Amino acid sequence: MALAQGGNRPVALRPPRSAYLHIPFCHRRCFYCDFPVVPLGDRASAAQGEPGSRSIALYLEQLRGEIRASAPGPPLSTVYIGGGTPSLLSVEQIQAVLAELSQRYGLAEGAEVTLELDPASFDLARLQGYLRAGVNRVSLGGQSFDDAVLERLGRRHRRSDLLEAAQWLRSAQRDAQLRSWSLDLIQSLPGADLAHWAAQLEQAIALAPPHLSIYDLILEPGTVFERMEARGDLALPGDDLSADLMELTAQRLAGAGYGHYEISNYAQPGHASRHNRVYWSGAGWWGFGMGATAAPWGQRQSRPRTRDAYAQWLQDSPEPIEPPRPMPFDERVMVGLRRREGVALAELALDCGVAIPALDALKRRWQGFLERGLLLQEGNRWRLSDPEGLALSNAVLRELLDWWSERAAGPQPSP
Ligand code: SF4
Repeated sequence: MALAQGGNRPVALRPPRSAYLHIPFCHRRCFYCDFPVVPLGDRASAAQGEPGSRSIALYLEQLRGEIRASAPGPPLSTVYIGGGTPSLLSVEQIQAVLAELSQRYGLAEGAEVTLELDPASFDLARLQGYLRAGVNRVSLGGQSFDDAVLERLGRRHRRSDLLEAAQWLRSAQRDAQLRSWSLDLIQSLPGADLAHWAAQLEQAIALAPPHLSIYDLILEPGTVFERMEARGDLALPGDDLSADLMELTAQRLAGAGYGHYEISNYAQPGHASRHNRVYWSGAGWWGFGMGATAAPWGQRQSRPRTRDAYAQWLQDSPEPIEPPRPMPFDERVMVGLRRREGVALAELALDCGVAIPALDALKRRWQGFLERGLLLQEGNRWRLSDPEGLALSNAVLRELLDWWSERAAGPQPSP
C-alpha cells in the first residue's frame, strides 16, 4: 500500500485489483463515435489472411508487451476487455491476452471477466469459445431495436442480429456458462420521442438482460453527427425531453425489477457490474492498450489514441511505477454523484485538502437544487434524487465545475 498526501491527512492508496484492456478495431466507425478506434472494413476478421488480421496480430503483440512490462500488483478481481469491437478477436487471441494478464497479476478466485461483444461480429461457437477461455460476463452493444435508427447511427448490425445474440447469451446464462450479461441501449436518439423509447424499453425487458446500460447520446467533436448537426441535419432531443426520457427509463425499469445503481446503469439484484463500480468508487485500475485510460493510483492517465503514437509511447518505455496521486476532489465528487449512494462530501474534502469554508461556497451554489429536491443531503452524504436529480445531473455538475475552476483561479479562503 502507498501513501499520498491528499490534503490534511495522508490517503492510503491500495494497488489496483482491476484492469481495462482496449481492443481498438471496428468494422467501421459509427456516426456518433469518437472512441480511439481503428476501422478495418466490413469484411475484417482476425482469421489469418483476412483483411485486418495482420494489424490485429501486431497490435496484440504490443498490448501483451505492455502488460508484461507493467508494474507488479495483487491478483485482479475484475477485468474488462472493451473497445472498439473485441469480438473481432478470435477465441485464441482472447485466451492469449487473458493468459498474459493472469501471468502478470493472477486472477483472484471468482474474478469478474467482462468482454464487450457487438451483434453480427460473432456467432454461437465463438461465444462458447470465449466463455471457455475465461470470460464470464458479456456486455452486448445493442444500441437500438429499430433498424432505421441503427442505419442512422451508422451501425453495421440489425435488430435480427441483436435478438439472435441476446438469445445465445440467455441460453448461456441459463446453462450457467455465463454469470451475467448486459445490454447497451442509447436513449436520446435523433428524432426520439417518448412512445418510441417506451417501445424500445419493452423489447429490452422482454429479453430479461440481468444488466442494462442506458446512455444519452453526446455530440462529440470530429464525428459525422457533429457535422450533421452543424448543417442542421440532426435533431437531438433537448434537455427537457432528455430528462423525460430518463425518468421514463428509471420508472419502467424499476417496475421491471431493475435497481438504478448508477446514472446510466440498471441491474437485477446481484448483477451490478463490479468493474464499473471501481471506476465510480475512486479506486484505481490498470489500463492497457491504445487510447486506454488507466488510473493505477486514482488520477487518470490516457494512452495515445492512434496506432503510431501508441507504438512510439511503448518504445519510449514509460516509467512502470508511477508516483501515487489521488483523484482530485472535483472528479471524486463527479463520479460519486453518478452513484445511487452519492458522496460523503466533508470526508472527501478532508481527504483532498479542500477547506470547509470553500465547501460552503459550493453548498450555496447547490442550494437551489436542494430546495427543488434534485439534490438530497442525508446525514453526511449528498446524492442526486432518482429519477429527477439524476436526469438533471448536468446542471448540478456544472455548478460543481464552475465552483472548482473559480476556486483554482481565485484566492483561497483560510481554513
Ligand atoms: S462499434 Fe462501438 S467503438 Fe466501434 S465505432 Fe461503433 S460505437 Fe465506436
